[in-house]
Amino acid sequence: MKLRLNQLSLRNHRVLMRVDFNVPLKDDGSILDDSRILAALPSIRYVLDHGGSLILMSHLGRPKGVDPKASLAPCAKRLSELLSQPVIMAPDCIGPAVESLAGKLKSGSILMLENLRFHPGEENPDKEPGFVESLARLGDVYVNDAFGTAHRAHASTALIARSFPQKAAMGLLMEKELAHLEPLLKNPKRPFYAIIGGAKVSSKAGVVKNLLNKLDGLFIGGAMAFPFFAAKGISVGASLCDATDIPLAQEIISLADQRGIALHLPSDIIAVKETASSIFSDGVPDGWKGMDIGIKTVRAWEKELCKAATIYWNGPLGVYEQPPFDQGTQKIAQALAKISATKIVGGGDSVAAIQQMGLASGFTHLSTGGGASLEFLEFGRLPGIDSLSEYRT
Ligand code: ADP
Ligand code: MG
Repeated sequence: MKLRLNQLSLRNHRVLMRVDFNVPLKDDGSILDDSRILAALPSIRYVLDHGGSLILMSHLGRPKGVDPKASLAPCAKRLSELLSQPVIMAPDCIGPAVESLAGKLKSGSILMLENLRFHPGEENPDKEPGFVESLARLGDVYVNDAFGTAHRAHASTALIARSFPQKAAMGLLMEKELAHLEPLLKNPKRPFYAIIGGAKVSSKAGVVKNLLNKLDGLFIGGAMAFPFFAAKGISVGASLCDATDIPLAQEIISLADQRGIALHLPSDIIAVKETASSIFSDGVPDGWKGMDIGIKTVRAWEKELCKAATIYWNGPLGVYEQPPFDQGTQKIAQALAKISATKIVGGGDSVAAIQQMGLASGFTHLSTGGGASLEFLEFGRLPGIDSLSEYRT
């Protein structure tokens, strides 16, 4: 068992906390969606309420070196508004000036470090010797609450934990994510169904294979469906279908077959050709591009899915960004929202789709980490969790 935030001593300690403030920004530099900041509030409040001070660190975007457009200052400002208290913005994430700010922190106050990725040492510690140690010097204890980045073995997400023996704990968001995701691998209530859509077949094949050991049924939609069509000799027309994904689909079909797991592919597809749109039941004809699952598929899936005790959903079932091709995703989300099963959703786009449709409250858990939740469900572990201290009684 890993050490938890409530097992650390916090009073008068400087808590160096890795958060995931990698928020989407608008063109004018303001924050488009502050969900990730909101998700970190429970851990932040917990530390403040227990007499600690906070040094928050995060990356934002993929800057190449220092880039004012990727500054964390807008996040510090938003956090300050949310908490109604000042958040001091540091000029950098390491160095004497930052150490001096950290040294002066009083219990209950907050310092936000500048974007970790302004330094090459965050992603490639070999390129910047001493980076990990410079970061570690800032705090007395370390907390990782950045679930969304926990699949990366970076300086602030994993390596730094070594500098805090018996003092590297997981935050409350991390704890909550694991509480929802672990049971899917260990003891899901059956029947357990997975719905896999979206576009990244190669990044999801591993998860599907691992979950196949537990599943009672697998539903494949979105662009995920086309390599499966191709593997079965069903035409895909001009739909998104990477030739390298077809053997992966073939392997999953064989595994599902061997294990007697029902594999549900769409029985109808809405496709477009220039300005025309049509629905096809026997594959997608030449020149047509599949955009969404059809209503026959929706009805058939609804009937099956309502038997589930547990559902894991990753990936939209159509090009939901372009109505009316959001209908398949929306109808299935509405159906799921009404049933009483445990319903866990992972994947940036899937979660965004459900939130846009106003259906978030109909789900048990929407994961804050797309890549991290996929990797956890594939391997059952993440570098950002492995590196934390063990809890000793
Ligand atoms: P998530 O972020 O939930 O893991 P992905 O990133 O794998 O999901 O996939 C999301 C993308 O898949 C969306 O941009 C959506 O438009 C696309 N998509 C879904 N169905 C299709 C389709 N039939 N053809 C092309 N793209 C699709
Ligand atoms: Mg995505």
